[in-house]
Amino acid sequence: MIRSWSRDIVVLGGGLSGLRAASEAAVQGASVTLLEKQDQIGGSSALSAGMYWTAPDLASYRQRIPHGDQVLATRILAGYEADLAAIRASGVYVDAEATLGVMGFGRGYSFDVKSYLRVLENRLLQSHGEVHTSVRIRSVTPSGTRRFCLETESADGRHEIHTDAIILATGGFQASPEHRAAHMPEAGADLLLRANEGSEGDGLNLAVSLGAALAGDLATFYGHLVPHPVAGFTPDRFMLFSQYYSNHGILVAADGRRICEESRGDEILNQDLAEVDGMTAFLIFDEEVRSTFGVSEPFANFGRVDRFAFAVKGGARHAQAETLEELVQQLGELGVDAAQLTKTLSGDVEVSSLARRVSRSEPPSARQLEKLRKQPFYALEVQPAITFTLGGIAIDDSTAVLSTVGERIEGVYAVGADVGGFSNYGYAGGLAPAHITGTIAGSTAARFVTQARANTAQRLVVAAAKEGQTSC
Ligand SMILES: Cc1cc2nc3c(=O)[nH]c(=O)nc-3n(C[C@H](O)[C@H](O)[C@H](O)COP(=O)(O)OP(=O)(O)OC[C@H]3O[C@@H](n4cnc5c(N)ncnc54)[C@H](O)[C@@H]3O)c2cc1C
Repeated sequence: MIRSWSRDIVVLGGGLSGLRAASEAAVQGASVTLLEKQDQIGGSSALSAGMYWTAPDLASYRQRIPHGDQVLATRILAGYEADLAAIRASGVYVDAEATLGVMGFGRGYSFDVKSYLRVLENRLLQSHGEVHTSVRIRSVTPSGTRRFCLETESADGRHEIHTDAIILATGGFQASPEHRAAHMPEAGADLLLRANEGSEGDGLNLAVSLGAALAGDLATFYGHLVPHPVAGFTPDRFMLFSQYYSNHGILVAADGRRICEESRGDEILNQDLAEVDGMTAFLIFDEEVRSTFGVSEPFANFGRVDRFAFAVKGGARHAQAETLEELVQQLGELGVDAAQLTKTLSGDVEVSSLARRVSRSEPPSARQLEKLRKQPFYALEVQPAITFTLGGIAIDDSTAVLSTVGERIEGVYAVGADVGGFSNYGYAGGLAPAHITGTIAGSTAARFVTQARANTAQRLVVAAAKEGQTSC
């Protein structure tokens, strides 16, 4: 038997953005059901390093992400302080401001993200909201009593939820090889997933089925270089295997040439390598880099680890030698064009022919070679990994989903990594935008359903009056 019930708002996805939106709307008086596809809430948010960060101001945002959505960025940056204060006020641990620029330019604070997710869930439950896990959405159709009818499926059978508003918080489409193949034809379906397994583009599919427009470049994504090959790439090791320091080395393809300018950051190199034939390259660096950036914490409380040693233990192809000449010889034995690599190390900056598809990249500079100074020297084979997609659903600055003709689709909102265009090749954070869009969507949707309720009541009064009855 299909059980049917009615709620003001349904939130799809139980990561930071969904939990923030759901709890905010529930606290403001809306009846809210949060549905999570996996058997537990948390999504990639619960796997993350917990750095709440973004661009310090709009000028730095524009410089870093010239093709980003500036209207959305203005709104997200404006919400940064208030949302940080809200996290602090919840009582969870928030560290002092990070002293080194996050990802080279951002400002941010490490916080206890797992405890905070529990705080938000409790807040939702205490405000009479509900959380259901292991639930699949079968269809979304117009409802006879409210705006939408969601047909869901879970272990206890099929259900219908009638609702006036849906908040899409499903975390992007990186876990779907089909979506990746469609939107990232150069990177292909073979990218290694460095994220939760539930974010398969369900929010995007649903939004498109309701007439939504897409925003940002759907081929761009956030992630980090990881060793190749890599054994035991499990969520607890995602960060240990990430080569955050790659901007201090050079990245060389099998033809012995570099693929791009490495100093722009690991999250950029990661995308560039995804467009190189074979999707692997050797990261070459010196002892100075290995013993400093290669072991240090990218953020406070992150944990120190010798990333080269950890990668070697994980099965990565690698080389280590007292001189660059010996390193070249070892890489030659691993299949790299040794004669060309010698020229590359002497200053030849012609881009690898294997990187002919790389579209947004900057050409290599000779300056970067100056970083190879102190022996011994190291080479680590790396591959790209995807954490979340940067293109996605188009929204306005109230998080309302926009149609292909630029109009709001009434009652549909998108948040977090489902939203496209805030980051776009350049990257300005995941948790802070997820939290801030969640805050905005929770309030906007709560206001919308209050209005929808008032309109329904008004319609009933008018209908009753027409029939000569008094309203109940
Ligand atoms: C290892 C790692 C480290 C990171 N570190 C940082 C960091 O320090 N700072 C930072 O800013 N960002 C970081 N990020 C990125 C950040 O975690 C994400 O940008 C952010 O968590 C996105 O939040 P979200 O709520 O949009 O998605 P998620 O937290 O991924 O939640 C989406 C949820 O939706 C669920 N879902 C999918 N489809 C459906 C459906 N049809 N119905 C119901 N539920 C569905 C998924 O199962 C998932 O639980 C990191 C990510 C990883 C993986």
